[in-house]
Amino acid sequence: MKTISLIIPCYNEEESIPLFYAEVTRVLKTMPVDYELLFIDDGSRDGTKAALKALAEQDSRVTYLSFSRNFGKESAMYAGFANAGGDYVAVMDADLQHPPALLPEMYAALQSGEYDSVATRRIDRKGEPPIRSWFARQFYKLINRFSDSDIVDGAQDFRLMKRDMVDAILAMSEYNRFSKGLFGWVGFRTKWLPHENTARVAGESKWSFWKLLCYAFDGIISFTQAPLNIASWLGGIMTMFSFLYLAFIIIKYLAVGDPVAGWPTIICLILFIGGIQLSMLGIIGQYLAKTYLEVKKRPHFIIAESNREDIRRIG
Ligand code: UDP
Ligand code: MG
Repeated sequence: MKTISLIIPCYNEEESIPLFYAEVTRVLKTMPVDYELLFIDDGSRDGTKAALKALAEQDSRVTYLSFSRNFGKESAMYAGFANAGGDYVAVMDADLQHPPALLPEMYAALQSGEYDSVATRRIDRKGEPPIRSWFARQFYKLINRFSDSDIVDGAQDFRLMKRDMVDAILAMSEYNRFSKGLFGWVGFRTKWLPHENTARVAGESKWSFWKLLCYAFDGIISFTQAPLNIASWLGGIMTMFSFLYLAFIIIKYLAVGDPVAGWPTIICLILFIGGIQLSMLGIIGQYLAKTYLEVKKRPHFIIAESNREDIRRIG
């Protein structure tokens, strides 16, 4: 029998965990598979670790990996991939926004042999502030125009993959992880399952608008070099413009002489060019900062506590 490993990143999810566990085991028991549940406690400040410990005591299929601090969901998923032993691996949120009821359908799609992974995308953005939806749509338009990996609008991290794909993702050990981009970059044949947006069962979302905006910038910087090209293009255009302006000044001088004027023009040009130079330096700085983090090769996660001995504790 094949084994499915479920990876569940948890950050302050003490209320959701029992509900999630009940629902997911109910579904998994109806499937013709063995399974293991890998809960990653991402440095929670509430009773998450205690809740996971209690589960692990009553169910030997439950493993918990407790981080030494909050490393973020991307690191939690990476730790899960690194420690999952199944033939198939799935990532799910603990808040039941990713319905476990979809698992049998996802598994069946992989069994047909046509696909290497089955991913879900939400067909609506119900219950989300309109301004947030607008920003999200613009983000997907922008990143898909400039980057060579296919990043699907509404794609969620909820997906079931074959081992090969997981190994490919693990091989991408970059520090700045943007999973939506990584899943697209490795390729493989992916089937998309649409489903409706569901509300969280308990607790609240850890993503503020500001955090999402920063995450979107991270995604753009990680997956396209287009912003760097903007600098060269703008520089070229400005140079051409300055030659034209020079020609204009010479002609004007020959035609009407040189009355002292042009103070506002000079100030405007200085401010304009200064502004462009600063923002271009900023873009270069963003890439440099990412490179700096990458070359340090720091680990993605540090596990402080677990109920299993044979795990990768630092990676
Ligand atoms: N999560 C995590 N580390 C974090 C933030 C979130 O492991 O720093 C987990 C969280 O417990 C949940 C999943 O990532 O299982 C998705 O988080 P959330 O529901 O807050 O995001 P949303 O569904 O609102 O996008
Ligand atoms: Mg959620």
